[in-house]
Order: sequence, then structure tokens, then C-alpha cells
Amino acid sequence: MKKKAIEKIPYIGIERTSRKRGAKYIAATMVKIVDHEKHLITEVYRNKKENLTVPLVRIVLTKKDFGTFFTESGEWSRCLISGTFYVSKYPVWDKNGMKWDAEKENVIRSDEDLQRIKRFPGITERRWRSQTWYELINDRIEDISAKERRERDKRRCQRRQQGLKEREENTPEIDERKILDYADSVIFHEKHYLYYKKDGSWVRVACSKCGGVTDRRWKPGISYESQFMPMISEPRKGGLGTCPLCGAQGEWEPQGKMKSYNRNRGHIFIGQKYRETGMVFRYFEVEKEYQLGLICEERGQVMENAREKLSGIEIARVYFEEGKMPQKDYHKYNQYSGRDFWDDCNLYGTQSISIDKAPILKETYEEMRGTFLQYSAMQEYAEAESGCINPVRYAELYMEYPQIEMLTKLGLIKVVESMMGYRLEIVEDICANRVDTFLGIRKEHIRQLIRSQGDRDILKVMQMERRLGQRWTDEQIEKIAELKLDTMQGWTDVLKYIGIQKMLNLIGKYAGVGVEYKIGCSFALSRLREVAQTYIDYIRMRILLGYDMSNTVYLAPRDLNKNHQRMVMEFNKKEADKRIKEVNIKYPLIKKHYRRLRKQFCYEDEVLCIRPARDAGEIVMEGRILHHCVGLDTYLKKHNDGITTILFLRKKKEPDVPYITVEIRPDDFLIFQWYGAHDKKPDKEDIEMWLNKYVTKLKCGKIGTLEAGQQALAMLA
Ligand SMILES: [Zn+2]
Repeated sequence: MKKKAIEKIPYIGIERTSRKRGAKYIAATMVKIVDHEKHLITEVYRNKKENLTVPLVRIVLTKKDFGTFFTESGEWSRCLISGTFYVSKYPVWDKNGMKWDAEKENVIRSDEDLQRIKRFPGITERRWRSQTWYELINDRIEDISAKERRERDKRRCQRRQQGLKEREENTPEIDERKILDYADSVIFHEKHYLYYKKDGSWVRVACSKCGGVTDRRWKPGISYESQFMPMISEPRKGGLGTCPLCGAQGEWEPQGKMKSYNRNRGHIFIGQKYRETGMVFRYFEVEKEYQLGLICEERGQVMENAREKLSGIEIARVYFEEGKMPQKDYHKYNQYSGRDFWDDCNLYGTQSISIDKAPILKETYEEMRGTFLQYSAMQEYAEAESGCINPVRYAELYMEYPQIEMLTKLGLIKVVESMMGYRLEIVEDICANRVDTFLGIRKEHIRQLIRSQGDRDILKVMQMERRLGQRWTDEQIEKIAELKLDTMQGWTDVLKYIGIQKMLNLIGKYAGVGVEYKIGCSFALSRLREVAQTYIDYIRMRILLGYDMSNTVYLAPRDLNKNHQRMVMEFNKKEADKRIKEVNIKYPLIKKHYRRLRKQFCYEDEVLCIRPARDAGEIVMEGRILHHCVGLDTYLKKHNDGITTILFLRKKKEPDVPYITVEIRPDDFLIFQWYGAHDKKPDKEDIEMWLNKYVTKLKCGKIGTLEAGQQALAMLA
């Protein structure tokens, strides 16, 4: 669209006489030739005296293209105008959206204008009712954009098809026999079956390797001649035997145990050079199937033949080229056409193909020479993993982290394993080209890490050492890793007061005689870890409770367990005090209203006395001593806000010992609930009777008089 040329065309403008009553917008049209092409220009004006010279928008339509020009911002857009009457779609000239009566609000200047739209090439009327001018234009715009979209999709599809075709053409031929032989040896271990069925001293044998069936003696007969007949050793299920016909070794399998067939499955990779310096990894699913043919005879089912079949199908190819994203193609089967084909995207859901580790054909590494993966050390990694890895993942990883070559060659196999498993957080500096900086450890520990093959626990401790600015010996690192100290919360706080060696020694000492580090005994290990956890807990509590940690008696108590226990108790008390302080600040009205409530609620007789809580802290203590939930914020808040009142009912003999807690509504003296210790109701009937009497007195105003109040006060004093 020649936007600049179109912008230069003067506006149509609307004469005052063309204004329509009740309309919000008026549209006017013209057809102009721009660059030898017919352009339908529709302008929308606000229906106001002062807006008749410059339109809000100018909608331009040619045979194949469209665009909307916003006069105010000077911007072009390709949005839709307004598809339907519905509000959900916004007309371009009004950001606030279109109303239900859009038709009345958006009118066209004259029938001539409408005819100009209807006659424009490409515009077709297709509804049973007459269409508004904007529906006509919008339908056309939708047609054009749908067509563009189809073409775009087609082009994309063609490009993909082209890419697939090119990749297929550049994928070297493969000798299937070689793949199957390899699979037979590394996956199926060239396993054959010797099916057998005994009949007296005879046995019938069917060999899956050669397919032959034969009858042999396994026990000598009574006759003299039979002792010279060829014999085989007695078949036993699962044992190894030799086929009397072809000499192949096979596993004995009784005829009756054999289902009509069984199969084993596995996967295999082969890598080939792709184009100049790339590689393609091809993923095969291989299958070995064993079949036993049976026929029915008078004496029952009889083995007739046996066979085994190896087959393979290539299910995925992954193409690697330097500097390009890896491309995965998948082999699919079209059920309708019955044809196999390659596709560049995976299937959805459970049908999707996943590529997992599998044995790799040796010649892959020869093919790798001269490719950009030549120095990836993939072969060394595969050897360290007994030949079974996922080369696709390795190549992907190598493209992102070329350092894995170095890690593999140094023997840090477990580090590479972690990275293969997407645990990439172990990498400290992705740009580093040295092992120590790459992993964030001290240089002097590299040897030790290599000795452990890159053990994850050891590595974590080394990373921690550097982060903490500590210097630990090899032995200390091993012990810390053994104890898994790094997983124990707050253990580094302890380090501020005691050296690592002293700490390790102490843990060893507390663990007791005979419990040593590095003896690989699981009992010793769990004992050491338990002691370490107790010790760390103990020290942390001492620190939090504000003890002077320069005191060596605190750092190394004679009896760890006893001291730990003491700290737990002290710590709990401190936490409790903290809570009481907190609630007194959070719910201050409980204390403030105590004096008033006391006058209202205090009462006593010969046995029991009752009074409101003095402050929030007292309620918390009541809850804690009686082990019920009155100390929770819900009750504190209700009391604080005057919704309910918490009363303490106690024995007159022991006015300081919590007994029963009552929740009452101060407006009408309704008792919501009452409980003793552990949410129980001790002396239930007596207490209920007592409380009923008490409520009656409250209602009659017999409590709360000055006299009663003073009486109660005297009691409290
Ligand atoms: Zn055989």
C-alpha cells in the first residue's frame, strides 16, 4: 500500500447539510487511482459541526490489500473495523467500543457512497438482510487477511517440507544389518531359546536360532543299544544348553511355559557425519521376537518349529550443526495412507517419542572426526558410563557448555552426569574456562574432586567452603560431606565460634567409642549425623539465648544431650515470653477494659470464683497451661473487640491455678463455650449448674452492683 501517496490525497469533507440527526459518525467514500490501482477510501467523521473537515479515520481498500489511517496519530493499522453488532469487537474509530445501536450511530452520507462500496471489486453482499457499510468493508478485510494467513501458513509449511527433504537427502545411507547385529549383541546378548518337552527318557527340543526340532534322549534307556545313542544333558528351565542341531547356546524354556511368542525391546543410537561439520544422531527402536510354532496332535500340542526375528525401526533423528539450533525429526506413520513419513515435530500426549540413553554404535566416534563435536569427549563420557548415554543431550550440553569436554577428560564424570540431568545450578560461572572457577571451588581441591569423580556431596562442600571464605583440608571436606553438614540448617553459625576441626573432633567424641568417620558403616554414619544435628541445634540455641560463646564450657559441654535438653526448655520459655509480650501489644484493649469488666463479671461463692482476664498475656498462659486453644488470636481478638469476654473460673482455694475457661457474650450473657484442661469438661454437671446460676445472677443484675464489685475486689487483692 502506497501509504505516503494516499496520505497526500485531500480529505473528502462533509457538507453541513449532510449531517444526520441522532448519528454519532458519518462515513463518506471516494474511489481514487493510486499507482495505477483503484483505491476505495472511506472516511469516518464525527457528526459535529466542528469535525466535518478532518475525519477520525480513513479506511483504505484495494483489490488485495487494506489499511486504516488514524488522522490524529498519523499511524497506520491493519485491524478489523467491526465485524458484527456485538460490543466485543471495537470499531477502529472509537476506542470505547460500539454500542448495540451501532447501525443508527454509524451512518453513511448518501446512497451513492454505499453504492460505491458495493460496486468496488472484491466486495460482495452475502447476507439475507442488507449489510451496513462497515459490515461490507469488514467482511472484505477479513477475507483478505484470511487469504494472507493461508498463504503464510502454506509458505511456512513449504519451508518446513523443504527443510525436511533437504535433511533427508543429506542423511547418509545406513546398513541396517549392522544396527541389528549390534543390537543383538549389546541389547539382547545374542540370546536364543531351546524349547523342550520331556517324554520319559526322551526330550523334544526346538531351537529358536536354527528353527530345527529334534528328539533326544536325556536319560539312558534300559536296552543295551540305547546306551550308545547320542544323549544330551537334562534340560532345566533357565539353564544353558546347546542345540543338538546347530550347536548354538540357548536358554532352556519348557514348552508349556512359553506363550506363543515373547519379545524384548531396546534402543540404539548411531551418529553420522552430516553435511560439512555437523552430526546426525539416529535413534532406533529394536526388537527381538521369539516364536514357537505348535501343532495339535493326538497326544496334545507338539512343537513344530521355532524362530527368532530381529527388527528395527528408526524413530528419531537429531541434526546438529555448528551455531544452529539442533533439529529433531520424528518418524511417523500415517494410518490413512499407510505410509511412513518424517516430521519435524513430535507427537502429542502419550504417543510422543522420547529420546533416552541407549548404547551407541562404535563407528559413531569415527564419524565424529572432523565435525564440530570432535573434541566434545563424548566417547570418553560414554566409556565412563559403560557405553550407554544419550548423545543428543550430551551434544546439546556441549553446545551450551563446551567446558564439559574438560570435565569429562579430567574424569569429573559425576559433575557431567548432574549437568546431563539438568542440574545446572552446580555451575558457578558459565563463562569460565577453568574447572575451579567454572564450579566455584578452590584450585587446590581440584585433585580431590577428581579422585571422587566429581562427587556431588564433595563438590557442594567445596563450593560452600569458597563462598564462606573458609579454608578446609581434604580430610575436613570429606568429613563434612560425610556428615552432610551443609544440609543442616544454621551450621555455619556454629563456625563463627568454633573451628571446623574442633567441631568435627567434638562430634566424633560425642558419637562415642567405636564410631569413626570414613569407615563406610551405615550405623556409624547415622550416629555421627544425629550427633552433629544435636550439637548444631544446641549451639544455635545457646547463641540465640544470648550466652557468651567465648566460654569453652558452653562450646564443649561434658554431656551434650543433657545440655541440649536444657537449652530446649530455656528456648521454649523464651519463645513463650515473647508471645506474651507480643499479644499484650497487639490486643491492648483487654487490659484497658479489665477494670470495667471486673465490676461487671467478678463473682465468688464458697467454692468457686470467676473473673475476666487481666490482659492478653494471661489468656495465652491460661491456654498454654490448660492445653486448649483460648490463647489463639481468634479469641484474643474477639475479647479485645468486645465481642466476647474470656472469664477464668477457678477454685477459691487456688485462685492462681487455671481450672475452667469460659467464653461469654457480654451483651446477653450467653455462654459460647467452656472448657477445662485438654478441651475436657471436668465436673461437668456441677460446673454447668454453677454457670447457669451465675448467668441468671448476671441477668438479674445481682452481680455488678457496687457491693458485689467491692466484694470481688477484696477477693482479688
Ligand atoms: Zn539350533
